[in-house]
Amino acid sequence: MAKMIRKNYLMAPGPTPVPTDILLEGAKDTIHHRTPQYLEIQKKAIDGCQYLFQTKQPVYILSSSGSGAMEAAVANLINPGDKAISVNSGKFGERWGDLCRAFEADLDEIKLEWGSMVKPEQIKEALEKNPDTKAVFTTLSETSTGTIHPIKEIAEIVKDYEAILVVDAISGLLAQPLKMDEWGIDVVVTGVQKGFMMPPGIGLISASEKAMKVINENKNNKYYFDLKAYAKKYPDSPWTPPINLVYQLAKSVELLQEETIEGLWERHELMAKATRKAMEAMGLELFAENPGNVLTSIKVPEVVDGKKIVSFLRDNWGVTFAGGQEHLKGKIIRIAHLGYMSQFDVIIGISALEMGLKKFGYDLELGSGVKAAEEVFIKAGV
Ligand SMILES: *Cc1c(COP(=O)(O)O)cnc(C)c1O
Repeated sequence: MAKMIRKNYLMAPGPTPVPTDILLEGAKDTIHHRTPQYLEIQKKAIDGCQYLFQTKQPVYILSSSGSGAMEAAVANLINPGDKAISVNSGKFGERWGDLCRAFEADLDEIKLEWGSMVKPEQIKEALEKNPDTKAVFTTLSETSTGTIHPIKEIAEIVKDYEAILVVDAISGLLAQPLKMDEWGIDVVVTGVQKGFMMPPGIGLISASEKAMKVINENKNNKYYFDLKAYAKKYPDSPWTPPINLVYQLAKSVELLQEETIEGLWERHELMAKATRKAMEAMGLELFAENPGNVLTSIKVPEVVDGKKIVSFLRDNWGVTFAGGQEHLKGKIIRIAHLGYMSQFDVIIGISALEMGLKKFGYDLELGSGVKAAEEVFIKAGV
């Protein structure tokens, strides 16, 4: 057969597909940022972010990817020599450790096997050992494995200490329940190229009053990401903001607010459930200890070349999944159901995986995964 047209399907946990309405917002004329017209758009974007973070605290817009917001959190909280605790059970928890070391924290890193979930008691033990800890750095959804950490329970514990609780919700926000104020989380960071359905380029960060006190007293060297500068100018920006991306953010939050935060959690939960049921029906084993709504990670069957199948699906059929990182390269496949995704996107992903696995020598009944997912959707009445 002649070469077929290739349509692209982004099914990796960031960047995620961008709806046309959001893409078009970015094409509007760039206006000057020190104007009431621009400020109105930025305020709309911020209002929406506050709702989506479930906070009344300011949300600051940074010109960076999510890691920039992570760096801002560490740079603004940690003086050299300050005690910090971080949870490392995957690539992104590891990043908290790298950042803490870069800013010379006295770090107690809770190292777990990749894919496992931290137990709230482990945080309590670490805090009991060092009650003068400045900050605890955790991850809502560990994207390298798909594991969800019990943030609500961790917040219950950290509340009783001086420490600031910082949560990397870069992939988890919007897909996975998180209520910043109600749960008592001090700092939440995210990036817009995941649940917000946007092109990359904005990092978001919000801090509680307890955290702002620590931030105001922090003596660490920093400049561009000094949150005091952002607080002083708020809701305006200290530097030139990413103007056209902020247009897109205003559109994104409008679309997300229409769906409501509970609706977003529910949709992502349903997509995840259908995917897990499909994997089970295909005889595949899940990888993560406490898999969530962001992505489903599966162990690659023995007979299949885990690296080749991921690049084959991407380069030949246009379906981009994520493989494993570091020592998990070739061992797991991560199927995202994050952001601009409906039940039929999930079906496409499952079908592509079925066909790909079959092609790479894994014995399965074609349609078994698709059928299982369809049954979940029909039962849910969507
Ligand atoms: C994507 C991701 C990051 C990194 O964000 P960048 O936008 O690539 O800098 C950090 N943490 C988690 C949990 C992520 O999913």
